This record gives sequence, C-alpha cells and structure tokens, in this order.
Amino acid sequence: MTEIIDGNAVASEIRDNLTDAIETLADAGSRPGLATVLMGDDPASQTYVNMKQRDCEEVGIESHHVDVAGDAPPETLYDTIADLNADPEIHGYIVQAPVPDHVDYREVIRRVDPAKDVDGFHPENVGRLVAGDARFRPCTPHGVQKLLEDAAIDLEGKDVTIVGRSDIVGKPLANLLIQKADDGNATVTVCHSRTTDLAAKTRGADVVVAAAGAPELIDGSMIGDGAVVIDVGVNRVDADNEKGYELVGDVEFESAKERASAITPVPGGVGPMTRAMLLYNTVKAASLQNGVDVDLP
Ligand code: NAD
Repeated sequence: MTEIIDGNAVASEIRDNLTDAIETLADAGSRPGLATVLMGDDPASQTYVNMKQRDCEEVGIESHHVDVAGDAPPETLYDTIADLNADPEIHGYIVQAPVPDHVDYREVIRRVDPAKDVDGFHPENVGRLVAGDARFRPCTPHGVQKLLEDAAIDLEGKDVTIVGRSDIVGKPLANLLIQKADDGNATVTVCHSRTTDLAAKTRGADVVVAAAGAPELIDGSMIGDGAVVIDVGVNRVDADNEKGYELVGDVEFESAKERASAITPVPGGVGPMTRAMLLYNTVKAASLQNGVDVDLP
C-alpha cells in the first residue's frame, strides 16, 4: 500500500511542539514577533501574507504587517526594512515575493538583517547553509526534510533527484541533502529546464522531489518502483468547478501513486510544512536574539 504522507498532520504536530518554546520565550519577556511586508497588491501574495498572520496568531507569535505601495520607490521599501532591522520586537520578517519589477529583489534580501532573515535567503545565511552551519533553513526545503524524517525515510546513501534549481527550493534542498548529517547523506541529482532525458534521472531515483512549477510534469512512468515522491509544486489549472480552477502538483498523483511507496498530495503535502517552518524559524530567531534556550521540534 502506498503511504500518503500527510503534511497537515506533521505540520500540526510541529506547531503544537513550538507552542511550548513560544511560552518559554514569552515568560522570559521575549514573545517571538514576525512581520510580513507586502509591496503592491498582488492577490495571491495577499493571501499568503494573511495565512502567515493567521498561523502566528494560532501559536502565540506576535504578528505585524507593513504594506508598501506598489508604485513607491525602492527606497520606501528599504526604509521599512531598516525600521524592522532596528525594532527589538520583530525577531524575524519576510518581504513577500514577488516585488514589483522596478525593485531589485536581490538588493532587498541583502538589506535584511541576517539574524532576522527567517526566509533564509540572505547571502550570509545561504553561505552558512552550504558550509553545513545553517542558521535558518529555508522553509520549503526544511519542510521537505521534516516530512521525510517523519515518514522514517533514511536518506543515507540514497539517490535523490530534485527537479528544479530555484534559489528557494531546489538549490537549498540539494545542499541540505548532501550534508554529512543524519537528515542528509544522500547522493543528489538536480534537474532543470535544460536537463536532457529527465525521465531517466527521475526513474533511477530512490526519492524524487518535484519543484518545477510545471503541472503534472512527472507521471507514473517516470517514477521507479517503490520510490518516495515529494511534490512541492502548486499550480493553478482551469477546472470545471465553482472557482474555475483547481490546484495540482508537478506530479500526476494517480499514476505516480501506483509506483511510489510513499507520496505527498497537493494540497496537503509540502504546503502546510512551509508555513510551519516559518514559525519554527521565527521562534529560533527570537531564541538566538534573546539568548533564551528552547527545545525546537
Ligand atoms: P521557479 O520557477 O523559481 O523554478 C522552477 C525550476 O524548475 C527552475 O529551476 C526550472 O529550471 C525548473 N523547471 C521548470 N520546468 C522544467 C521542466 N520541464 N523540466 C525540468 N525542470 C524544469 O519555481 P519555485 O519557486 O522553485 O517553485 C516551484 C514550484 O513549487 C511552483 O509550483 C511553486 O508554486 C511551488 N512552491 C510551493 C511551495 C510550497 O510551500 N508548497 C513553496 C515554494 C514553491
């Protein structure tokens, strides 16, 4: 029987375990605080920001939000970032991507205090991760690691194929999984839009992680017998329902399930883990900034 990996359940357990750490920090006078910054009024970004705020409230993290007008000059966003860097009640913050075209996202990231960079995108944090000394693991790759750990999938010596080389998913995940560590020790192949014979690379893998943003790119014929399939993709496709669309992953779930030993659904797989790991990083940031030790799940 193929195991359907339940991201909602694992994320819920992580959130529950974080609440103890949050109350320990609050008792020590430093309740964790997370800010979200949204430049412009992209509806999808608005939804993500709302979800992050709600997640904070549920576990007892103070949430703050700053809106920046979409047509403001980059300096307005930089000023917001400088204010958040200086605010002792904000332990972590995220600048919701994408930012408008006239703003250089890399420059935005460079201005975030690395100690408050709970996305883990600042070059200092990327460097630390590659060096095997991560301060903040980016939320989606960290969530994937936690799902694999919860499903008791030991990666030591396993072949993992990651489809996608983005800075937020594919690259950091590849770097994490090759680390000499209990949740690493894998042999990783990273595929991308210029990869030839993608099917051969996925079919030969013990674990396939799909993060391409291409609806149902990977079907059952591309999955080896008994492989573990983690589907990071979230794609809107037209559907004959009230909303007019549905969400599908980068994996064709039904055919892949026939071959896999374990597989994540979309939705309800990696998505809730990404949200939980943002809370995790915020708690870790508050702990580090205030010198209060807490147990992290
Ligand atoms: P991205 O567009 O930045 O990167 C996509 C990567 O996939 C690129 O490296 C590209 O080379 C590769 N790619 C695209 N088409 C390919 C193909 N046909 N064959 C091989 N490689 C191909 O995307 P991203 O930000 O990494 O996100 C990837 C997907 O994951 C999206 O669907 C996104 O919505 C989703 N996502 C989900 C979560 C979550 O929490 N569930 C978080 C982040 C991203």
